[in-house]
Amino acid sequence: MLQVRDLCCGYRDITVLRDINFEIEEGETLALVGSNGAGKTTLLMSISGHISPNSGKIIMNGADLASKGPDKRCVLGVGLVPEGRRIFPDLTVFENLKAIAEIKIDNRSYREEKINSLISKFELDSIRDIKADFLSGGQKKKLVIAIALISDPKILLLDEPFAALDVMTIKTLQEIIVDLQRLNNISVILCDHQARDLLACVDTAAIIHNGKVVAQGTPTSLIQNIDARNAYFGDSFKIS
Ligand code: ATP
Repeated sequence: MLQVRDLCCGYRDITVLRDINFEIEEGETLALVGSNGAGKTTLLMSISGHISPNSGKIIMNGADLASKGPDKRCVLGVGLVPEGRRIFPDLTVFENLKAIAEIKIDNRSYREEKINSLISKFELDSIRDIKADFLSGGQKKKLVIAIALISDPKILLLDEPFAALDVMTIKTLQEIIVDLQRLNNISVILCDHQARDLLACVDTAAIIHNGKVVAQGTPTSLIQNIDARNAYFGDSFKIS
């Protein structure tokens, strides 16, 4: 459903990514793996339309996204959850969801249904009336993903969803990500430095090194791949 073809992008005269090629099917999860500064965020922002590529194509369900900015891509089904995404600190969990739902969903009864189903899916019932400023890091992460789902994305881009979370909260988020795929058929592209946690919940991963995808495949095949080991995993990395 999404194809990235010969993508080159960067900032002003700095090229960060060169000739990036990959595709992701409907309901598939893909991890972007790479060292600090490899260009994972840059790639997610190029797909969401927040960065314009220097060359190459991003095609979604047959449509070239080149001429479409972030808003149009959101309407087409691209949802981005940037690292450290802001929420309204003085609004409650419910009010945060409602504020975005009022912009995205015209039909009032569907809007309410959507908010309630997200509160239930993300187990936010007990904190629905708590101001976002007082939420824990894990609760905030759940809320920002719930907010991104208001627009019914077909593909969700998650930048470092597991950063600074405890083991059990990471497990909950992994289950949510797998459910997005299994129950809602949403494709997910995510990056994180918690490589084991990341590889445990995706179908495939792409290793980005020196601006290129140097290896791509299933998690188990990648940790045996010599290019992936040289670029990222090293010799002693094990999945569990
Ligand atoms: P990390 O894992 O540390 O978050 P990353 O793989 O997500 O890193 P990016 O944030 O995409 O990497 O950055 C890739 C390169 O682009 C880095 O060298 C960074 O310094 C550079 N870069 C990022 N944003 C800008 C910007 N706005 N202007 C200029 N250079 C930038």
